[in-house]
Amino acid sequence: MLDEAEWVQVEPLLSNAIKQIKRYRAEHDVSLAEARRDGYGKDALERYFQITGYRETNADALWHHRLLYYGPPCIKCGKPLRTPQAKLCAECGATVAVPNQG
Ligand SMILES: [Zn+2]
Repeated sequence: MLDEAEWVQVEPLLSNAIKQIKRYRAEHDVSLAEARRDGYGKDALERYFQITGYRETNADALWHHRLLYYGPPCIKCGKPLRTPQAKLCAECGATVAVPNQG
């Protein structure tokens, strides 16, 4: 998972995907599918590895590694809640404690 300071380092490397794919096709004379598979997201994946030490292989998956989209960690299992508004943990089913309003 990436916090916002880390995300701004990875996001630009993902968002210029069309440019990356076109360049890869021009340089390697391959099909669009091959360029999509081999020429997209390598820089973003490398930057993600430098930040987290985790070797993600699917550039598209990086879009889901932004911490802002998730809630706080589950009090039972520690996995991040799927959204900041989640009422229960999708991982273990634990109910999220609602802060005392009074
Ligand atoms: Zn949980």
